[in-house]
Amino acid sequence: MRLENDIFTLFPKFNEIFFENNLDCLVKWGRKYNKPRKRCIRLGSFNVRTNTITINPDLQNDKIPGYLVRYVLFHEMVHAWFHKTNHKDKLYHSKNFKSVEQSFPEYRKASRWLKKNKKFLLSNKD
Ligand SMILES: [Zn+2]
Repeated sequence: MRLENDIFTLFPKFNEIFFENNLDCLVKWGRKYNKPRKRCIRLGSFNVRTNTITINPDLQNDKIPGYLVRYVLFHEMVHAWFHKTNHKDKLYHSKNFKSVEQSFPEYRKASRWLKKNKKFLLSNKD
């Protein structure tokens, strides 16, 4: 695991830079499952009940660029932030949500990568 992908280091950094240290959720890697084939992939999630961000362990792969992991973490942090501050938008990708998301410096790079590499993510078993 490269340091630049380390969500445990990134989380407090992002919390400070983007959220004025207002987020108090937990962050963890999800468990790896051995499913033969995936139809869709969930890169990350935010669980309101446990106040926990979970990042897909398939992103712990040297072929995944660091900015993708950072983007996924940031995306979930925006969910946590909306949950904390704005109930109307909390679980949707609303206009508001998207404009915050797009303020992430590596947003464009990450969404371009995602468009190109969907197949790679789906077949990635490692
Ligand atoms: Zn989302």
